[in-house]
Amino acid sequence: MKLRPALFLDRDGVINPDVGYPHRLQDAVLFDDAIPALYRIQQAGYVLLIISNQSGVSRGMFRLDDVQRFNDAIAKQLRQGGIRITRKNFFICPHGPRDGCACRKPRPGLLLKAARQHKIALSASFTVGDALSDLEAGRRAGTRTILLNRTRKPQKKTGANYVASSLIDVADLLPVPHGTPSRMLEHHSE
Ligand SMILES: [Mg+2]
Ligand SMILES: [Zn+2]
Repeated sequence: MKLRPALFLDRDGVINPDVGYPHRLQDAVLFDDAIPALYRIQQAGYVLLIISNQSGVSRGMFRLDDVQRFNDAIAKQLRQGGIRITRKNFFICPHGPRDGCACRKPRPGLLLKAARQHKIALSASFTVGDALSDLEAGRRAGTRTILLNRTRKPQKKTGANYVASSLIDVADLLPVPHGTPSRMLEHHSE
């Protein structure tokens, strides 16, 4: 079977605002650019995989069930925008910094697991995140990396391959694996 490229996405601060350990359903709100950008990126041939540290579970702030409910609410809104996505596209590390797991970013374990399950070509894939730990995990998994700097404030050196100020920027800079250039694939919301 042919391996496919993926876009590995951090969740909080990338798809939904990071309100500080978001887990309440009222905070499962998409950034305005999420649907149009992710629609184009999926149409261009990328598998969308959301990779999220949720140490609030280990810290006893909420339960894994709450994370799954939150993810389901995000997925439902994306589906309403025409994006094909289910719970299987979401990968969660519930551990804390001292649990010594292999899946908490900046470790690459969760990206590698997602890549195995979805038959992903890592060297053709990209990781987008708003934190150094996202970029480090993406680099260690063998993907190219994109810092999402929504505030446009100057950033410390991150070593990212690219910097974007929105998910639309991300859609614009991704190479198209086959077929139509990504920027030609405009999202139609009817
Ligand atoms: Mg984040
Ligand atoms: Zn973990």
